[in-house]
This record gives sequence, structure tokens and C-alpha cells, in this order.
Amino acid sequence: MAISLEGKTLADRIKEEVRQKTARYRETLGKVPGLVAVLVGDNKASQVYVRSKQKACQDLGLFSEVHAYAGDISQVMLLGKIEELNRRDEVDGILVQLPLPSQIDPFAVICALSPEKDVDGLHPFSLGTILANKPGFRPCTPLGVVEMLREYKIPIEGRDVVVIGRSLLVGKSLAAMLTNENGTVTTCHSRTRDLDKVCSRADILVAAMGKEAFVKPEFVKPGAAVIDVGINSVSDPARVKAYFGDDEKRQKDLQTKGYTLVGDVHPAAFERAGAMTPVPRGVGPLTIAMLMKNTLTAFERRRAGS
Ligand code: NAP
Repeated sequence: MAISLEGKTLADRIKEEVRQKTARYRETLGKVPGLVAVLVGDNKASQVYVRSKQKACQDLGLFSEVHAYAGDISQVMLLGKIEELNRRDEVDGILVQLPLPSQIDPFAVICALSPEKDVDGLHPFSLGTILANKPGFRPCTPLGVVEMLREYKIPIEGRDVVVIGRSLLVGKSLAAMLTNENGTVTTCHSRTRDLDKVCSRADILVAAMGKEAFVKPEFVKPGAAVIDVGINSVSDPARVKAYFGDDEKRQKDLQTKGYTLVGDVHPAAFERAGAMTPVPRGVGPLTIAMLMKNTLTAFERRRAGS
């Protein structure tokens, strides 16, 4: 049975550090880190994500604003808004919640961010610093995964690492970051042949594909570390039973919320892995914690001269 890699515990510690440093800056400089979230349209999931980021800012004492725009805003108008935020001194970090409506090119909007305020780490400058292995903002979810491996002292150097998924937000950035950590990294995607065989060589297997319980226990090398980035909501009682048996907590989720969360890895892989992230409370909580940490870092670089 794998040890459970508890992202929630690590995330709480990182957030506590941000809270304490923020309180110190408030006392010594009379200023705190500031984060603005830009939200376009009425995508429900985006609204939930932005609210939870804003709540984290409030809990930790950061200054935060949400700039919400109607779904039919033009690209030119939105770029103008980003320009205003780039100029505002009390704004250290700007995050543009994706996806954006179809009339807007997300790449153009991300490129318009000042790289020094790119706390989501998606600007081409930030991505370039990953490839160059130089300091810069890292996307929050991959950064959380690397922190998790460090926290649990899971060695990366020289190990065979397989990352399933090649989005900029997660898979491709993470693969480059793990290469920088001297892992021998293979990136898989929807055209990869014999995915099960490729995965079964991995000492560290990361699943970031958005496919419910797709990675079966037999994909996992016995004793491997498995990082499950996927977050999928399941409401079908038969599938919940297939994944979790009669687990009381999952049955309660179904009754109270109407769904429970499952990752991209089948929960039965816990029996085979040496260490594995649970879903929820694994990678998920780290993403917001890393956003808070990146915002603090942006503040320190801009104001505290560190
Ligand atoms: P994405 O942009 O949809 O990318 C999915 C990737 O998975 C693509 O590269 C795709 O390959 C690959 N893929 C899809 N089906 C596959 C298959 N059958 N075999 C192999 N590869 C396959 O998703 P994302 O934004 O990277 O997110 C991935 C997952 O992570 C989602 O479940 C998302 O909810 C979750 N997520 C979690 C957090 C967090 O905080 N924990 C943050 C971000 C995302 P192609 O490139 O060939 O299409």
C-alpha cells in the first residue's frame, strides 16, 4: 500500500509562511502583495476557481481584486485593461483565468502581461526561463508537483519519469522542470503508442490528462511514485462503487454533493505504488498555495529588493 502524499498539509504550511511574511511586510513597509484576477464571461468553473483564489488572498492578508468582464468584451478592450494593471503599482501579480471566450486569443492576452507580474507562469518569457533553467515564475500546478516530490524526498535525479499530458499549463512545463531536476523524462500524449508499457517503466509517473481513472494499476511499476494531477467529478453511483467500493466518505459525498472527485489514476493503483497523491487533497491544494507564493515573490522582487 502506497504512502499518501498529502498536498493539503504541505499547502497549509506554504500558506502559513506567506501569511507570516505578508504580516511582516505590512508592519515594516506598510505594503502587502497584491493579486488581481481577470475573469471574462460566466464560466461557472472559472468563477469557482477565481473565488477560491480571492479567498486565499483574504485569508493570508494579501490585497486582491477580481476584474470581471462580460463575455463579449473585445480583445482590444481586454488588452487595454491588462495594460492598466501592468501600470498599477499596488498590483504585483495578474492572473487571467482561462479559458477565454472565442473572440479572444488567450496567447495574445498572456503575452500582454508584464512578465514581472506573471504569477501564473504562462507568459512566453516565464516559459523560456524554464527551458533555460533560470529563475522565473513557474506555472503553479507543476511547481506544486516539484515541491511535493521535494517535500517527500522522492529522488528525481537519474530516475525514469513519465508525464502523461503535454499542456503548457501542466504536462509540458512539468516535463521541462523535471528535466532541469535531472530526471530522464518521457512525455506522453493522445498519440503515444503502448502507453501502459511506457508508464510501467516509470519510477515517477505523473498523470495530467483529464481522463477519469484512465491510468490502471497495471500501468504502475511496483513501488513507483504516482502523482495524480487530474480532477474529475463523478456522479454515477456504479462508477463510484467501481473506484472506491463501499468507502463511506465517497458515499457521503454522493449523498450530500451529488458527486465525488476522482483523479486520472484509478484509485486501486494505491495498492501497487510506493507513494501516491490522493484526490482530493493531493496536488489540488498546492496549486493555490504556489500562486500565493508566486505573488509574494513578485512583491519581493518589485518592492523589497530581494
Ligand atoms: P488538457 O489541456 O486538456 O491536456 C490534456 C493532455 O492529456 C493533452 O496533452 C492530451 O494529449 C493528453 N491526453 C488526453 N487523452 C489522452 C490519452 N488517452 N492518452 C494519453 N494522453 C492523453 O488538460 P490540462 O489543463 O493539462 O489538465 C489535465 C488534468 O489536470 C485535468 O484533469 C485538469 O482538471 C487537471 N488540473 C488540475 C490542476 C490542479 O490544481 N490539481 C490544475 C490544472 C489542471 P494531446 O495533446 O495529444 O491532446
